[in-house]
Amino acid sequence: MSLCPNYKKCGGCQLQNMTYEKQLSFKQVKVIRLLGRFCHVDEIIGMDEPYHYRNKVQAAFGMKNGKIISGVYQSSTHNIVPVDDCLIEDVIADKIIVTIRKLAESFKIKPFNDVTMKGFLRHVLVKRGFVSGQVMVVLVTASGAFPSQRSFVNALLGKHPEITTIVRNINDKHTSLVLGERSETLFGDGYIEEQLCGLSFRISPKSFYQINPVQTEVLYNKAAGFAGLTGTERVIDAYCGTGTIGLIMAKNAGQVIGVELNKDAVRDAKSNAAANGVKNIQFFCGDAGRFMVDMADARETADVVITDPPRAGCSLDFLRSLIKLSPKRVVYISCNPETLARDLGFLTRKGYRAVKIQPVDMFPFTEHVETVVLLEKRPKNTEKRPNDTETR
Ligand code: SAH
Repeated sequence: MSLCPNYKKCGGCQLQNMTYEKQLSFKQVKVIRLLGRFCHVDEIIGMDEPYHYRNKVQAAFGMKNGKIISGVYQSSTHNIVPVDDCLIEDVIADKIIVTIRKLAESFKIKPFNDVTMKGFLRHVLVKRGFVSGQVMVVLVTASGAFPSQRSFVNALLGKHPEITTIVRNINDKHTSLVLGERSETLFGDGYIEEQLCGLSFRISPKSFYQINPVQTEVLYNKAAGFAGLTGTERVIDAYCGTGTIGLIMAKNAGQVIGVELNKDAVRDAKSNAAANGVKNIQFFCGDAGRFMVDMADARETADVVITDPPRAGCSLDFLRSLIKLSPKRVVYISCNPETLARDLGFLTRKGYRAVKIQPVDMFPFTEHVETVVLLEKRPKNTEKRPNDTETR
């Protein structure tokens, strides 16, 4: 039995036909199947309240039978499945989206049609700070004048005084991306702030931020425990995004170096460091693999490497250079146990051993599972298969 009437059409919650306990054991078994050969897998950390955890909610707008609808795209199609409330989305964010739909009706604002490329309101994106309570609404529209903009904004704020900023983003391209290039702040600062592990982070419409704040703290605390910092270490935070992990660890490290490909994220990371008064951290924009090769070529060293790559895992260049840098510990955070298994295979053939594997349920009701692994350098004389070729 599923809990949501849109279960089949939406496709967002693949495991909704299972109880939460069943979901956790499903994920545990998956991680053991893929990673159990490296070391014991600790019990997955689930949520006490696995509902409404998503702090970032997005809805597409369209027309059906002469009425405006808002919701999600049916999996692999362009049909909008109307959604008013969702099991995993933030409750306030969902309410705001319903209000916007009603206001759009009364203000006669037409939804955008991406076949005819006509109409105005395309998507609404809401981000809410779980700790700070700040709420950002992004109205994604076609270009051109916003009909009755000021009255619309005032009406929205009247219904939802909890909104702290409203941004208009313009996207008139034929694209499946939600956000376009240009943004204009209609109310407030144009960003929200949120607290995580005792630090404050700025979240703008485009910046990446973990979507489950409760489990993010759990995950980062585990990663920090695995890193075992004593205040003197040189730490690399690879694939660092807006710098959250490195910034949180900096107080227990000698020096932290963050590397990230997305330049907006690096800009946010630098301003997050300044805003929190963290001085022993530096961020570099570039490919993490290339960066590690340069570090290795320059005969640099690191005591601890933290890596949190996208689903594809770490590049071979990255892993080869990591071996050369020879850190005592590697903390590998992964959202894809398949590529994690491949990369652990490489590292464990090259002088490391996995000593802790901890799955964390960041995305209840979906099939996704996050895993954090601690690897330690094996003492030289116990190195496994030293003649192994450098493949994964
Ligand atoms: N550690 C961060 C972000 C992890 S998401 C956090 O916990 O918030 C993975 C990040 O890797 C994204 O920010 C993405 O932009 C970045 N990325 C993707 N490919 C990359 C590459 N080749 N080199 C460096 N960073 C990359």
